[in-house]
Amino acid sequence: MRSSRRPSYTKIVATVGPACGRLEQLVELIQAGVDVFRINTAHGDREEHDARVRLIREASRRADQLVGILVDLAGPKIRLGELPGDRFQCEPGDRVRLVRGQRPAGPGELTTTYPALLDELEVGNRVVLADGTVSLVVEQLEPDAATCRVVQGGVLRSRQGVNLPGVKLSVPALGERDRQTAAWAASADIDFIGLSFVRTAEEVRQLQALIEGQGSEAQVVAKIEKPEAVENLDQIVQAADAIMVARGDLGVEIDIAEVPVVQKRIITACSRYRKPVIVATQMLDSMQHSRIPTRAEATDVANAILDGADACMLSGETAIGRYPREAVEMMHRIAVATETLRYRAQREMPPDSVPAELNEITEATTCAAGRLAEYLHARTMVVASASGRTALTASKNRRFVSIIGVSDSETTLRRMCLYWGVIPLPGAPVEDREQLLGYVIEQGRAAGYLGPGDRLILLAGTGLSTTRHNAILVHEIE
Ligand code: PEP
Repeated sequence: MRSSRRPSYTKIVATVGPACGRLEQLVELIQAGVDVFRINTAHGDREEHDARVRLIREASRRADQLVGILVDLAGPKIRLGELPGDRFQCEPGDRVRLVRGQRPAGPGELTTTYPALLDELEVGNRVVLADGTVSLVVEQLEPDAATCRVVQGGVLRSRQGVNLPGVKLSVPALGERDRQTAAWAASADIDFIGLSFVRTAEEVRQLQALIEGQGSEAQVVAKIEKPEAVENLDQIVQAADAIMVARGDLGVEIDIAEVPVVQKRIITACSRYRKPVIVATQMLDSMQHSRIPTRAEATDVANAILDGADACMLSGETAIGRYPREAVEMMHRIAVATETLRYRAQREMPPDSVPAELNEITEATTCAAGRLAEYLHARTMVVASASGRTALTASKNRRFVSIIGVSDSETTLRRMCLYWGVIPLPGAPVEDREQLLGYVIEQGRAAGYLGPGDRLILLAGTGLSTTRHNAILVHEIE
C-alpha cells in the first residue's frame, strides 16, 4: 500500500526508453506515480526488451510496489526508406514520386517499407508523412511509381512514418514479426499486449488466441488509431481487454479536429463495457524539453480524466525526454487536483442497460457496495476478485472511495495496476473473510492509512456462487 504520497485514482502509464534506462530511474518513476510501464517494440530488439522487463520487475521489488508491463506491438506501421543525405525538403505544389524498391533512384523520389503500397494506392488518395507535418495527394499512377503533388510542405527525414488516411490497406494488424513479439511477451509473463492499427474485433481475437495458445493470461490492449477501428468501435471494445486512444496516429488517420470528440466516444464505450481505457500521446509533450508543461497540456490531462480515462500515458516525456520524473510528478499532481472535483464519468448502470456480457448481479451488488461506502464515508472498499473483473466494475462506478483489490493471482493483481482507483494488495488470504479483513487492517495500519473508527466495505462472493459477487460486509475498526 503506498503511504508516502496521496495516490491518485487515475493511473499513469510511462513509456520506457533511454531516459529511464537505469534501475534507480525506474524506482524513482514508480515512487513518483507510475503504475504501468510501456515497452514500445517499434524500437529496440528482443535482447533489449528482455533486459527492460527484468529491470522493471527488479524496480518494482525495490520500490515494494506492483507495476504492470505493457508490451506495445509495432503493428504494420509504414515508414519512409532511407533518404539521400537523410533529409528532403518539399514545398507546396512540388511533385514527388513514391517508387518501388529500397533505394530512391533520383531527387524527389521516396521509397517506403510497404512493398504493396503502389498496388493499393488510387489517384486522389492522400499520403501523410512525418506525423502529419507533410501531406501529398496522388496524381498519377504507373506500374512502379506514384506521382504525388505536395499539398503541405516541410522537411522529411529517413524512416519517418507514412499514413494513408481513408485507404483500406490489405496488410494485417498482426504481422509475422508482431506474432513473434507477442509470443515472446506471453512467455515473459507480460501483463498487457498492445495491438497497433487494429481495424476489427476479429484481429483482437486472433491476438487473444495466440496469447492463450502460449498458456498466458496477458490482456490485449486494442489501440484505436484507424478510422475503421472507430467505425467498429463497439465490437472492438467488447472483444478487447483494454483500449488505448492512440492519438498520435489517430490524429493523422482522421481529421485532427475530430480527435477530441472521438476520444470522448471511445471512453464512453469503455465505461459502458467496463473496459479500462488509456489516453495516450502528447499529453505533456513539451516536458520532453521543459520542466513545466503548457497550460493546454495540463488541461488536456485533466479533461481526459474528466472524460473518464482510467489511465493517462506518457511517451517521449519518459522515454527520451530530459525530465521523466518531473513529467510523472506533474501528471500525478494534475490527476490529484482534477479528482477533487469528484466528477462522475460513469455512474452505475440502470439495471435494464447492463450489457448482456456483464453479470447483472455483480453489477448491482458492486453498485450497492459503492453507495454504501459513500453513505458511510468508508475509508476503503475491499474487493476480492479472481480475474479482476469485479474490481474493474467497482472502479468504473467512480465512487472516490479507494478500492483495495485482493486476489490469489499475482497476474490479476498486476492487471489492477491499470484500473482507476484500485490499489492491488498482494499476500492477502482471500479464502477466509475474517482473516482477509484482519490482513487488510494490519497492512493499512502499518502504512498509516487505516486507524480506529475507519469503516471498510468488503465486497465478495458468499461461496455459494463462484462467478458472482453477491455479498457486502461493513466493518468498523475499533
Ligand atoms: C499513438 O499513435 O498514439 C501511439 C500510442 O502509438 P505509437 O506510440 O506506437 O505510435
